[in-house]
Amino acid sequence: MPETKEKNLKEIFEEIEEQKCVVRKGLKLLDEFIDGPMCGRCLPCPMGSYEMRIRLKRLSEGRGAEEDIRVIGDIAPKMLETSMCKKGKDTARFFMDTLDEMSEEYTAHAEGGCPARECNALFVYRVIPHKCTMCGDCLEACKDFAIIGEKKLPYRLGYLPFEIAEKRCTRCGECIKVCNDNAIEIVDIREMEKVEV
Ligand code: SF4
Ligand code: SF4
Ligand code: SF4
Repeated sequence: MPETKEKNLKEIFEEIEEQKCVVRKGLKLLDEFIDGPMCGRCLPCPMGSYEMRIRLKRLSEGRGAEEDIRVIGDIAPKMLETSMCKKGKDTARFFMDTLDEMSEEYTAHAEGGCPARECNALFVYRVIPHKCTMCGDCLEACKDFAIIGEKKLPYRLGYLPFEIAEKRCTRCGECIKVCNDNAIEIVDIREMEKVEV
């Protein structure tokens, strides 16, 4: 069986650039680092990495709070100082730099929003009922069977606007591309909560 080469940290840093969201970048970095180049020879690096991963997961899944950002901000400089090698230090530095330069994006997650729209738990796709002409284009575009509705036929009455089943929706964005009536919108969970209060 061909051996799979373990990724080095440089390759991991290149890969995370594919993500736009800083929280998703951080999560991917830690997932790959923990599974690969992290050797576990010194304690601060694995301990810090595991704890920061828990905190980032909370932020990405809409369970996060300012406290999680504060904990990451506490861990990163200690990990930078006490890690025995460059790999641990570079990983820690990523969090120090991004907390410094992109603090607003971290805070948005603590408040229940993902500005880059990559954390699926933090936003939904929704049909605007009064704009939906029941053309059925989104139904054909959705490969995940997340759209509920019946295409309008001229000889029949009693149609209801289309709907999106939130749990089935993978947030792929294909429906919004094909809706010529601008009847599909992306809504942050935090905005929906505001309306419901
Ligand atoms: S800092 Fe370096 S030596 Fe220490 S656990 Fe991390 S990868 Fe291993
Ligand atoms: S594509 Fe737009 S207008 Fe057509 S059914 Fe879907 S939501 Fe309604
Ligand atoms: S975002 Fe993707 S999965 Fe969700 S309803 Fe639209 S096409 Fe379907």
